[in-house]
Amino acid sequence: MTELLYMNDCYLKEFEALVEKVDGNFVVLDKTAFYPQGGGQPCDNGVLIKDNEKFNVVFAKKIGQDVSHEVNKTGLKQGDRIKGILNWERRYLLMRNHTAAHILSEVIHKDAGALITGNQLNIDKSRIDFNLENFNREQLSGFASMANEIVKKDLQIKIYSKPREEALKIPSITKLANVLPPAVKDLRIVEIEGFDIQADGGTHVKSTKEVGEIEIIKAENKGKNNRILYFKLK
Ligand SMILES: [Zn+2]
Repeated sequence: MTELLYMNDCYLKEFEALVEKVDGNFVVLDKTAFYPQGGGQPCDNGVLIKDNEKFNVVFAKKIGQDVSHEVNKTGLKQGDRIKGILNWERRYLLMRNHTAAHILSEVIHKDAGALITGNQLNIDKSRIDFNLENFNREQLSGFASMANEIVKKDLQIKIYSKPREEALKIPSITKLANVLPPAVKDLRIVEIEGFDIQADGGTHVKSTKEVGEIEIIKAENKGKNNRILYFKLK
């Protein structure tokens, strides 16, 4: 079972760990700061360093309770002590995008009463899927300015865990219902102070100001009620 260091410290850029399992180019560590792809957030990249040899982490994903790091070459062995270093530029951009997605989702939810059905973050642009019957393009610029107002307020983002039963009493917590696997006893909560509370496993910035400026690029209609909105950060 890999300890997920990013869950408690989203700003951890380097860490030391023990190699627990190796299968070809796939390496499992006892702990990691590498975010494994999931929940709409792409995985981190970076390096694992053993002595002076560098192994590039090209992909990371969860397999059961482990995080599997795919490296560009073989050579690491069980029992090796390594230092992991994230590609911080990429990760920080993903953190800003993730917090931006929460802000926009809440704006769309509050303002239009839409149900958020999914999101996919990325470096260049991110998308939010939502369900809304009556939708017109003029609403888009409204969403953008409301979201940017929240960004400018410099609200703090707090991350903590809450027992599932207690967390589910928070009215808006199931806005993105598919992030709550029933087996999970404690939910990790991401709260944008005074604005939004979500159960979420991703990485986020500490204050909304760090998001920068949100720009909505376009919106698409998929079927009668399904909308897709693309945004990027300036
Ligand atoms: Zn999220």
